[in-house]
Amino acid sequence: MKRRPLLAGNWKMHTTVMDACELAAEIGKCSAGLEDRDVIIAPPYTVLSEVAHVLQGSNVLVASQNICWEDKGAFTGEISPTMLKSAGGTAALIGHSERRQIFHEDHALINQRVVGALRFGLIPIFCIGETLEERESDKTFEIIEEQIREGLAGVSIDDMKKMVVAYEPVWAIGTGKTASKEQAQEVHAFIRALLEKMFEKDIADSTRILYGGSVKPDNVDELMAQPDIDGALVGGAALNAESFCRIINFT
Ligand code: PEP
Repeated sequence: MKRRPLLAGNWKMHTTVMDACELAAEIGKCSAGLEDRDVIIAPPYTVLSEVAHVLQGSNVLVASQNICWEDKGAFTGEISPTMLKSAGGTAALIGHSERRQIFHEDHALINQRVVGALRFGLIPIFCIGETLEERESDKTFEIIEEQIREGLAGVSIDDMKKMVVAYEPVWAIGTGKTASKEQAQEVHAFIRALLEKMFEKDIADSTRILYGGSVKPDNVDELMAQPDIDGALVGGAALNAESFCRIINFT
């Protein structure tokens, strides 16, 4: 099955309003005319509305870097799906390794976020990945399976049609160490087989699985050539217009 490539940029805790608008404008320009792929950027909340405004009419979608499951209420520090949509966002990163590791978000919380995002019609970009210690002790598949089973608990086949999965080995995020194309492909194939076991073949075949972890202009093409890699989630290189534009224009 042919899956539409998706290139996503995570700006993390970077950019002032002015930086963000300039960067978004550059990305809007270099993605014009790219009809065969989707581009998403996830700016910080403080600039999300401005970025969405700059990108209005372009084919770049805007995502948040996390999302609450409730519509409104006493959840200091969180934003709701309704708030995100009103600011121009349509997708949300959930379960990023920095949320898991630094902010101790666990499977149950991440699952609540996934289910909430789906309830409000957002596209969840559900992130998973093993640490170096887990890889070195041969636990990669076990950890990935646990993250997927727990994170997607209660998600229906119908909801899975919106889901995007991002495999991001923690040891490759922001370290300059990319998983080799073989290492990435092996885990992507494992994830697809697991989705088939948990849901059905059509879901496994149609779900986009992104790779994230030091994706750069010089490794994007070989990663994207792998049969089960359907896109990239990019951190550092998404903050530079030239690099990100090269990445979204992968061949
Ligand atoms: C990320 O933050 O999701 C990421 C993959 O970062 P980097 O590309 O900098 O490794």
